[in-house]
Amino acid sequence: MTATMLGPLRSPVHRFVLGETEITSILDGSTSMGISPPFLLDESDDEIATIARAANLPTDKLENNFVPVLVNTGDTLVLIDTGCGHYRRESGAGFLRARLADAGYAPENVDVVVLTHVHPDHIGGIWEDGDLAFPNAQLMIGRREFDAWEAGDEIPPQRAENREMFLKIVAPLKEKFRFLEDREEIAPGVTVEAAFGHSAGHLMVRVESAGKQALIWSDVANHYVFSVGHPESKVSFDDDKEMAIATRNRVLAEVADSGVLVVGHHMPFPAVGYVEREGASYRWVPATYQLGV
Ligand SMILES: [Zn+2]
Repeated sequence: MTATMLGPLRSPVHRFVLGETEITSILDGSTSMGISPPFLLDESDDEIATIARAANLPTDKLENNFVPVLVNTGDTLVLIDTGCGHYRRESGAGFLRARLADAGYAPENVDVVVLTHVHPDHIGGIWEDGDLAFPNAQLMIGRREFDAWEAGDEIPPQRAENREMFLKIVAPLKEKFRFLEDREEIAPGVTVEAAFGHSAGHLMVRVESAGKQALIWSDVANHYVFSVGHPESKVSFDDDKEMAIATRNRVLAEVADSGVLVVGHHMPFPAVGYVEREGASYRWVPATYQLGV
């Protein structure tokens, strides 16, 4: 007898209901990278290996997931971030638009695209083959974020290439954007909140419906162990490292103490879970059936 081996399989779409909204996470893709940098910059190799082993993770590399999110309020379909687009298709990410169909949507169905910030994995999918990837969507972005990248003087040197990308694919859309302030509502029950540090004007998105709440924290913490478990640690990806640490601590404390559901762009797919306090630190707890009963 032979039985054909088919390799690993995971669904790239996941949907749950929150009050009267539906929230769909879509795996844009994943890439493999080293642990430090970007994470645990101040820890020794031995200490990093100990932390990884304790979490049953490889000691020499990590898988970075990219998870844009769709929020359907019943009258507005909001897409939060656009994935990597064609820039990383060779290396395993950039499939958001192709996978929309698996979630039951066409690109034309998206009413709003909100960019939480303009790092490449969040803006790369805004265009596809020379056209806007979500042609009917109202584009939105934080005013602070757009202004900082347009002016350029606050952008750290390691983001020079990123700024070129912004100038090439986002800045030309200036007239099409609605510019957002902290606590601005972008669809019924869907509000953006300032969470600066990871980038100059980085935003989170809070969804409230029928007494339920979820916080889509984008890149407040970017690894479920190395960042959530070590919020004081500097992270290469954070443009203002001290401000990012302060924001991370503030948001982690809030979600741990309130028990609010979190969707995190770089948490392990489907990127839906809770944060618990663990000693002086925190632990990511993936959601199980809480949302299905
Ligand atoms: Zn990111």
